[in-house]
Amino acid sequence: MRLAVISRLSWIKKQQANFQSQPRQSKREMVTGESHYLFGKRYRLEVIERRGCHEVAISSNSTLQLFVNPGTSTQNRTLVLNQWYRSQLKAQIPDLLERWQSAIGKEANSWGIKKMKTKWGSCNITQRRIWLNLELAKKPLECLEYVLVHELVHFHERYHNERFKTYMDKYLPQWQRCRNILNKEPLGNENWDY
Ligand SMILES: [Zn+2]
Repeated sequence: MRLAVISRLSWIKKQQANFQSQPRQSKREMVTGESHYLFGKRYRLEVIERRGCHEVAISSNSTLQLFVNPGTSTQNRTLVLNQWYRSQLKAQIPDLLERWQSAIGKEANSWGIKKMKTKWGSCNITQRRIWLNLELAKKPLECLEYVLVHELVHFHERYHNERFKTYMDKYLPQWQRCRNILNKEPLGNENWDY
């Protein structure tokens, strides 16, 4: 019994070590000088305090300007930026959907964006609904495309089996590269299998 407890403890230690060795984004304080990403491109954050509506704008192709009222907390700055990420992601989806729905021959009834801890995307096959992770706004656009194709392929095949893989190879031969990009920075500690 004692032996079992010890080996369990060493297993836990090993898991903790594994988890700590995974690359993760450093905690953001939402201050000038930090790096933030939009569709795989790095921007330098510039926080500008002024009275008025909260706003985000890209300036000179490499600066992400965050306009906030003086004294806006880190949490609220994050909210403003996330809202902007959501609108950027949202703007990309209709064109991609239109193209891929006709290529794949399946349609989504609806789609949405949300924060997910362990998944890049998910779908409800019966309702034909697709969810996309807000974090995809930070990854290269091909990753968003990959997740969208993945979810649409689920309308043909529920499981991640050989048949599913055959569809992915057919529609998006480079899908494994996109999967690797997404797995480099895992969400929580779960990997994206296909
Ligand atoms: Zn899947």
